[in-house]
Amino acid sequence: MLRVVVLGAAAGGGVPQWNCGCPVCRAARSDHPALRSTQASVAISADGDHWFLINASPDLRQQLLATPQLHPKAGLLRHSPIAGVILTNGEIDAVAGLLSMREGSPFTIYAHAKVLAILKANSIFNVLNEKNVRREPIELDRPFEPTLPDGAPSGIEVLPFTVPGKAAWYLEGKVHPGGSDGTGDTLGLRIRDKASGKYLYFLAACAEVTDDLKSRLAGAPLVLFDGTVWRDDELIVAGLGTKTGQGMGHIAMSGERGAIEALAGLDIGQKLFLHINNSNPALLHGSAERKIAESAGWQIPSDGTEIVL
Ligand SMILES: [Zn+2]
Repeated sequence: MLRVVVLGAAAGGGVPQWNCGCPVCRAARSDHPALRSTQASVAISADGDHWFLINASPDLRQQLLATPQLHPKAGLLRHSPIAGVILTNGEIDAVAGLLSMREGSPFTIYAHAKVLAILKANSIFNVLNEKNVRREPIELDRPFEPTLPDGAPSGIEVLPFTVPGKAAWYLEGKVHPGGSDGTGDTLGLRIRDKASGKYLYFLAACAEVTDDLKSRLAGAPLVLFDGTVWRDDELIVAGLGTKTGQGMGHIAMSGERGAIEALAGLDIGQKLFLHINNSNPALLHGSAERKIAESAGWQIPSDGTEIVL
């Protein structure tokens, strides 16, 4: 059995974003609090007792508070069910939550060498003492089984693979601590319960659906996919920014080359958008965009959505 809890479904900034007055953010602050959403992260578990986070969002503290499965076990003075964090990129919204996990509990950080190099280059992450918090490099196309703090197997197999994307935004035009060559800045993950064989794909950032990616995703029981923007020029048209979705390494939901079209007809069991920016009109219940997404079989999850495979 593979349990998945969507801790947060929003892109960087969350919904509402602190400095944003767009229609979605205004609605989330006032009449429609159900629109509120924290920054993207999911928790997975094979046994229901030990959990792994996929990315650690800046909203982690709030997410843990809202998720009883991740509370310390009753009767223990210090404990956390979180056995590890698997990072798929080095963006702020994927790594900043690590700083909220600094009170001495043991866990393991799994990340590609390029992302580990970013953590190493930023001394603030040394607050996670490597005696308690191991940093384990993961390699493309090499499956691994994350372990529990006592070294026991988790029962989960994770296969990292490269997807079209970008290095973290704050590194644009800068020297990448992990070197400028090669891939590893943006990972997709296949996560499989070893006992049942059930699996899901996690792709919170993806710039393009290639033929290789289509063949991976075909027939998958569950796909959590990049839903940052509805259309590529959304931020520019709304006057919210100067970047396109592609410029940020994110495919649009709509359009001929968008995610809805690209993933149609692949016989995927459940499709959820994740990492949804507050500018995206598909967040609004009853919007034409949401209807299009839903009629194509996509779910727009709210925080706390739980799926059992
Ligand atoms: Zn907004």
